Amino acid sequence: MRTIWLHDTRTGGLRKLEPRAPGRIGIYACGPTVYGRIHVGNARPFVVFSLLKRFLVHEGYNVTLVVNITDVNDKIYAAAAAAGVASEQLAREMTAAYTADTDGLGLGRPDFEPLASQTMQEIIELIERLIGRGHAYPVDGDVYFAVRSYARYGEISHQLIDQMDQDEGVEGAERKRDPLDFALWKGSKTGEDTAWDSPWGAGRPGWHIECSAMAQSLLGAGFEIHGGGTDLIFPHHENEAAQTFAACGAPLAQLWVHNGMVRLEEQKMAKSVGNIFGLHQALRAYGRDALIMYFCAGHYRQPIEFDDQRLEQAAASVRRVREAARKLTAGPSSDWSKPLREKFFDALAADFNTPAALAVLFDWIREANRAEHGAGDADLREMLDVLGLENLLEPSVVEPPASVLALRDARERARADGNYAEADRLREQLRVQGWEVRDGPGGPELLPLA
Ligand SMILES: [Zn+2]
Repeated sequence: MRTIWLHDTRTGGLRKLEPRAPGRIGIYACGPTVYGRIHVGNARPFVVFSLLKRFLVHEGYNVTLVVNITDVNDKIYAAAAAAGVASEQLAREMTAAYTADTDGLGLGRPDFEPLASQTMQEIIELIERLIGRGHAYPVDGDVYFAVRSYARYGEISHQLIDQMDQDEGVEGAERKRDPLDFALWKGSKTGEDTAWDSPWGAGRPGWHIECSAMAQSLLGAGFEIHGGGTDLIFPHHENEAAQTFAACGAPLAQLWVHNGMVRLEEQKMAKSVGNIFGLHQALRAYGRDALIMYFCAGHYRQPIEFDDQRLEQAAASVRRVREAARKLTAGPSSDWSKPLREKFFDALAADFNTPAALAVLFDWIREANRAEHGAGDADLREMLDVLGLENLLEPSVVEPPASVLALRDARERARADGNYAEADRLREQLRVQGWEVRDGPGGPELLPLA
């Protein structure tokens, strides 16, 4: 088994992955708040932690991946009120949309996808323990965590306590003993159409407590990897860590692993029409293969731009793999492949460096193209599988994205109008996007360019 290193936000450096029980790893990654369709930025942690799980499974671990769904939240109440629907209905619809959108990534589902609304018992028990230990206090139907009662506060985000802002605005300000304190339970207010019974009256949980409760109940305190975007480091993860340690005397997780943000610069999306930042829109426009390749081309810790240039590069990389795959034979790879295969997985073991691993994968393809007597595809298949791109080896599954289909249709219309110059121009545009159009008896046929 390789030694696996990951960057840990709490200690600020690379740390060795050392499971509590040999061979078993728990990963908890914070999932979406379901008040609208998710965007490409929300998809990144889903992709990163799904692929990290694939790699760990490849290395022989038994991995449990938990990605929660926040279905009770201020944002949901606000969005539901604006849309004139019940918050439960909006949350249910957006949960279904989230499932469908992430299914489109073709990476499978996490092992558990707990809902906040179905974790109330665990949440209430955890809050009761915090009150019992003197780390939380009820006031007028709310419960707050007493930040200054907990000496380790700040260990995840490394902020100075006097410069912290819980981002709770003025809500509950007059009930908090200290402005630093944050809500564990919120008494029901007018305009909120769901509430749960609790020892402090009807209400609903604060955001942070649900993750502590879900993660602990599914993985046990001290599980191996807690993940999420860098935007969650403070206050969300700081508070999750504080709640569990204060209640149980044990750390919530061993390693805190954070992915960088996806940045959208409108001016760099010149060729795209409208907003394609929604995951479902991006999947339609580029296809899941190019999207997964795009995510793998960036190191998970770095921010990545979401722009045409990077997505076109990703699509070109997908074409290169497909093209190479056509010349391979099914079966074991030759001797030259072994060191490259090792290098590929070593790169993933060193802080899950997918861009370095991809560079090795393309070295492999160069070697395979040079091989005089052909090459067996087994090692390439193994590498692609960990990146969620094993389907690139299958011959017939190339689905043209919607943007290509639109170009094909526009070309058909131009031909029908007798505008052959325009039809030729559109044929060339299709070529630029990697597709050859052939006019057969059954109409135009799209073929991926080799
Ligand atoms: Zn969370």
